[in-house]
Amino acid sequence: MYRVTIRFYEELNDFLPAAKRKRDIVHTFKGKRSVKDLVESFGVPHVEVDLILVNGRSVDFSYIVSDDDRISVYPEFETLDIQGASRLRPEPLRDTRFVLDVHLGKLARRLRLLGFDADYEKDRDDDHLARISAEEKRVLLTRDRQLLMRRSVTRGFIVRSTDPAAQVTEVLERLDLWSRCSPFTRCIECNGIIGRLDPADGGDDYSAAMDLVPPGVRSWCTEYFRCRGCGRVYWRGSHYDKLDRAVREIMEAGKERRDRY
Ligand SMILES: [Zn+2]
Repeated sequence: MYRVTIRFYEELNDFLPAAKRKRDIVHTFKGKRSVKDLVESFGVPHVEVDLILVNGRSVDFSYIVSDDDRISVYPEFETLDIQGASRLRPEPLRDTRFVLDVHLGKLARRLRLLGFDADYEKDRDDDHLARISAEEKRVLLTRDRQLLMRRSVTRGFIVRSTDPAAQVTEVLERLDLWSRCSPFTRCIECNGIIGRLDPADGGDDYSAAMDLVPPGVRSWCTEYFRCRGCGRVYWRGSHYDKLDRAVREIMEAGKERRDRY
């Protein structure tokens, strides 16, 4: 039998039952175990973990737990000032490309609106999502913690909120992405990059694009944008005002949060 003391910090406690949150947990188990398996046996996905200290020293996931170990488990992006400690990834989740699970379509659209590369399709199963995340080094966003417990998934984030507006704030906050927002640069329908449509380019492309614009709009609008993915043409019409408001609300929510701390 092994007997260890383990403690989870900050939002990792979200995964624990109330009785185990923010306190030392004395845990006994049989047989050899890696610290990764031990952490996940508490229901905490390893992708959410950024730093593990055993008796004050940082270890990686493959560390085999010894009797009497004292284990501290810290989440991603926690601002830590622990000298000599090494994070489990040299550069924790700084890649800001996403793949979202099938339940997060509204969040995908909001992330695209802010300019983030957010890969989303309605009909992907868990294997497919895990593969995309691993092969394309995309942060997997999901509300399903089982999905993030797969070995192949090394970049992931459990979205806690169920409200899409709160979800986008949550993701930007946790991954510290406020400064990387670039609204209206990406197509919310297909995730393609949007570029300005330049009449000087002329030719069939330009006239084909203009054919997609209603004559009522052409009579007043002089500036158009086109998605390089799906070919949709965008302009600053009434729909734009609505989206612009949505962007402002998100950015202001972020500013308020930052000012508070
Ligand atoms: Zn598009």
